[in-house]
Amino acid sequence: MADTNIGTKCVQGGYAPGNGEPRQIPIIQSTTFKYSTSSDMGKLFDLEADGYFYSRLQNPTNDTVAAKIAALEGGTAAMLTSSGQAANFYAIFNIASCGDHVISSSSIYGGTFNLFGVTMKKMGIDFTFISPDCTEEELNAAFRPNTKAVFGETIANPALTVLDIEKFAKAAHAHGVPLVIDNTFATPVNCRPFQWGADIVTHSTTKYMDGHGATIGGCIVDSGKFDWTAHADKFPGLCTPDESYHGITYTERFGLEGAYITKATAQLMRDFGSTQSPQNAFYINLGLESLHIRMKRHCENAQAVAEYLQNHPKISWVSYCGLPGDKYYELGQKYLPNGSCGVVSFGVKGGRKAAEKFMGKLKIAAIETHVADARTCCLHPASSTHRQMSESELIAAGVTPDLVRYSCGLEDAEDLIVDIAQALQ
Ligand SMILES: *Cc1c(COP(=O)(O)O)cnc(C)c1O
Repeated sequence: MADTNIGTKCVQGGYAPGNGEPRQIPIIQSTTFKYSTSSDMGKLFDLEADGYFYSRLQNPTNDTVAAKIAALEGGTAAMLTSSGQAANFYAIFNIASCGDHVISSSSIYGGTFNLFGVTMKKMGIDFTFISPDCTEEELNAAFRPNTKAVFGETIANPALTVLDIEKFAKAAHAHGVPLVIDNTFATPVNCRPFQWGADIVTHSTTKYMDGHGATIGGCIVDSGKFDWTAHADKFPGLCTPDESYHGITYTERFGLEGAYITKATAQLMRDFGSTQSPQNAFYINLGLESLHIRMKRHCENAQAVAEYLQNHPKISWVSYCGLPGDKYYELGQKYLPNGSCGVVSFGVKGGRKAAEKFMGKLKIAAIETHVADARTCCLHPASSTHRQMSESELIAAGVTPDLVRYSCGLEDAEDLIVDIAQALQ
């Protein structure tokens, strides 16, 4: 499977049944697993043997789906989480703790902005938010001796800024820290951040990976390339014995390819327990089987809608990196040559009021706190997902009061355009 194309990995990655075994992945709906002797089980607790003992830490169905996502991203190890929020929290908290500092793009999902800037700040981790369009000098100047990671989104939700992943990776590596990329909107079908120097990738599988609005979930993937041991003083949690886990040193026992995800499983999942349910992992896998087909259609629909809106007299601006002349067109051509995502952001002339009125008139697109669904949906972020932000935070996040986030589903583009036209009228 390793040398196949992305579509084949979507369909068959992560699972190779043996003779007479189920063709579809089995749902192992069991909290626990049976052993013949206590010493068999003891070896699992010591991480000396491979196997399952309690589904809060690991479950075979979840591991199968995580292995598929790892294959799609080109990573060495992955874990599922109960949500995208949990994935981003674990991804950072696995390598940063009280007294540490992290640099994040300011143009990110509102939930992540709040997680970093409010909740993780309370835990003693300081975040510097920096414009994704910053110069290399500005980026380098944001590092401190206690900086442990750099974070950004391939395509930001909802501002649709495209991150210059190579620029961010170069700065992170020059300062001995990994680049963590939330690849939710692009999906590995359209961008694989590891190819551009990212070290860890996160996902809200709730979005395109599920793709049917059926289940909340997240995933963390490790490229296995970041050399924690070369910066051992910065990452004691990975490079020195874990007293809470029988004195294991993760990098020694599991190598660069396994240390980060094993630590996240053995420590963070054990203690916080944001586990994916096996039933829901099964739904995520069903979505993954058609991800490559669906992404193509989402992108075609978004391109058609963006082109229509661009020429409409009642629309003040359109943001979609597939439009020539878009601020992120060049970065889009570099990082997302086969398409970006199905989400288009735009402003309705008349500002916040006009935007809300327009949305109320749509018949096919439903107002929802969701994106990346098979059914077209839309949202006014300034009055919903981003409503806790101040005016200046909104501007830094690229969210103007008139911004409508319109997520093209899998319907026919002609029908979406007719619906938009009547609502604008
Ligand atoms: C939705 C989203 C999240 C949060 O994921 P949940 O599954 O809703 O917890 C994180 N990052 C991005 C880019 C998202 O779109």
